[in-house]
Amino acid sequence: MKADIVTIFPDFFRGPLDYGITRRAAEMGLVKIEVHDLREFTHDRHRTVDDRPFGGGEGMVLKPEPLFECLESMQLPSREVRTGDHAAGCAKQSVILLSAQGQRFTQKVAAELAALERLVLICGRYEGVDERVAEFLADRELSIGDYVLSGGELAAAVVIEAVTRLLPGAVGNAASTRQESFTAQEEREAAAAEDEGPDSTCASGGLLDYPHYTRPAEFRGMPVPEVLINGNHQEIRRWRREQALRKTLRNRPDLLEGVEVSDADRKILARIKLAKSSDRE
Ligand code: SAM
Repeated sequence: MKADIVTIFPDFFRGPLDYGITRRAAEMGLVKIEVHDLREFTHDRHRTVDDRPFGGGEGMVLKPEPLFECLESMQLPSREVRTGDHAAGCAKQSVILLSAQGQRFTQKVAAELAALERLVLICGRYEGVDERVAEFLADRELSIGDYVLSGGELAAAVVIEAVTRLLPGAVGNAASTRQESFTAQEEREAAAAEDEGPDSTCASGGLLDYPHYTRPAEFRGMPVPEVLINGNHQEIRRWRREQALRKTLRNRPDLLEGVEVSDADRKILARIKLAKSSDRE
């Protein structure tokens, strides 16, 4: 995959993408990340990228001309081809504007993006970006959460890291990305179909991840749950599923609406809810 980042702060990316799985994936040639300095696409002495907003109001707005020129220099297929409107199956690239007003970036979106050949990430700054960029240049707007950052750079780094670790070969053990929080139900089924062996605890199927422990088995009076030490894989699997259900119910009950729960899961949830309500009484 090729990932292009458009920013007024190219040096920002020297740090965040130079570590761990992202770095390894780049070294292995799974991802090639290119950072484009927006100021190189200006034509005035001051390399101006922003201007005052029409209609008045606070702050400055990123101008459209350098952004359009920067994207044109990449020689991407047209927007119609990119978004798949032109011919089905051609949507191998996506131009994304990072924006607090965008659709929420989720694990599902990360998985969709990981299937593409090229991602272009446009980082806004100041009060935002001239709306013609969202309307006519970008294919979609993505937000990494309901809060306002000062710029799109951190958001772009988040997107690249989440997408890169889903590229085949990026994470040594592919099963580990299937077991993580938010992983889709289909992934869970694929993991089960491939029978990933006794250590596989099945993918999260949209739940939050189960708790993880490592040595020492006892630390400052805090023991690791006995079930994890006794070596009974069926019991471990059952315990992990229950813990994932508990944690999801406690921290993100909204996720349970989109999760396929089995009869056994339903019984566990009912038991947890009953215990909670009798605790309250
Ligand atoms: N005026 C905008 C608003 O209220 O929605 C906020 C602009 S923000 C200060 C500047 C830039 O930071 C945005 O253009 C966008 O690129 C980036 N940004 C801020 N919050 C973001 C978020 N939650 N997700 C992705 N990008 C974000």
